[in-house]
Amino acid sequence: TPITTKVDKLIEERLPRRIQTLLRFLGVVGDELLMPTYLVGGMVRDLLLNIPNYDIDVVVEGDARIFSHTVKRYFDVKIVEHKSFKTSSIFFSDGVRIDVATARTEFYEEPAVLPNVETSTIKKDLYRRDFSINAMAIKLNHEEYGLLLDFFGCRKDLAKGIIRILHNLSFIEDPTRILRAIRFEQRFGFKIEERTLQLLKKAVNDGYLERVTGQRLRDELEKILAEPEPQNAVKRMTKLDILKHLFPGVRHSKELQKHFDRLFTRWETIEKLTNESRKITVMVMLVLENTPEESTDWIISRYGFPKRLPEVLKTSLRILKKLQEMEDWRFSNLYRLMERPSAEIFHFIDAHFDEKKSNILLKYLKALESNKPKVNGGILIQKYGLKEGPEIKMILKELYCARLEGLPESEEEAFVRKLLKEPPEMRGKR
Ligand code: ATP
Repeated sequence: TPITTKVDKLIEERLPRRIQTLLRFLGVVGDELLMPTYLVGGMVRDLLLNIPNYDIDVVVEGDARIFSHTVKRYFDVKIVEHKSFKTSSIFFSDGVRIDVATARTEFYEEPAVLPNVETSTIKKDLYRRDFSINAMAIKLNHEEYGLLLDFFGCRKDLAKGIIRILHNLSFIEDPTRILRAIRFEQRFGFKIEERTLQLLKKAVNDGYLERVTGQRLRDELEKILAEPEPQNAVKRMTKLDILKHLFPGVRHSKELQKHFDRLFTRWETIEKLTNESRKITVMVMLVLENTPEESTDWIISRYGFPKRLPEVLKTSLRILKKLQEMEDWRFSNLYRLMERPSAEIFHFIDAHFDEKKSNILLKYLKALESNKPKVNGGILIQKYGLKEGPEIKMILKELYCARLEGLPESEEEAFVRKLLKEPPEMRGKR
């Protein structure tokens, strides 16, 4: 039997009115269909922690699809069914999303369920979840609205800040939980419970990560990188040999960790000045820099990274090497070397430099913005009669360099005219 507590007061205090109304309504739909209906997972955990989270995950003891279509009778919602998992998602027009799943046990299609079996059905569903902190349910049906069900000492673990699996085979059953454990540990500043940690290490060292599809691992890795400060999680992954099992052959060193640290701490600042790019792409570039070349193709195809990545890496390394040798980092020199690098290349390069040089690189990006020449290829063709081709490119490049060196916008055309008077073979040789 579970520990039960009424948490309806907590719901009232902590959740927005709109969400509360929805939860009540879901309970009423459950009543209409004679289906026990529960709020489960992360939202329950976060309600108790007093962290805003309105990802509504519902489990019903009955057919989830029938449940969703009944909701549609009352509201103008969109339903998306995921057949293979017996789940469906309900989308409200204001952006609220509800995921409904059928309680997963071998009995889920049994029509009439006795009360004691009823409890054991949700219990079995919760038992299949990753960690105790994620394995609580709140009943939504009217009679018992707000009843928290805790079968596995979940609330105590949550209060103590412990990540604990629910049974010994948990990581073997689903090795992506290895990454999830790290994510929750770092996010909440919790601790992985000792036995859980032992089993986690064993699963890693016995090669269970290698048995999961690359896509699932990548999804979990991206969730880790989406957390506010992923560098600690990455450090933890390195310490636990997880990185080595995800990316075989990687030589991890203090240097590599330092590059990860810089990448993640500087990410937001740089992101504002570049195009969009993915953290995981640049992280993998740093990994590949430290991995024997033979493994590159394997890693890229296992995780479905862009096929062009080795090329991007090669370009980045070439620029990096020149930068490391370059003594005079004036902006025109930087421009001659790399023009405006793509976001990935910029993040990658930047991670290799200390604060001082990184600041120069950042200022360089800003200077590129504020000194963009007004004269462009179109003007050169129309006004100066140049033909499309390498000459225009070279003139524009020289002009950009001059602007970066302080040439005012008002003197751009004079500069171009002067350049055009020089014999072509002299241009670009300054
Ligand atoms: P977040 O706050 O990051 O969304 P979450 O706990 O909601 O965290 P989800 O990945 O959205 O995480 O999963 C929802 C719930 O589904 C979890 O709380 C957990 O109970 C269960 N779950 C998710 N993935 C697994 C898994 N690999 N194994 C077991 N249970 C899982």
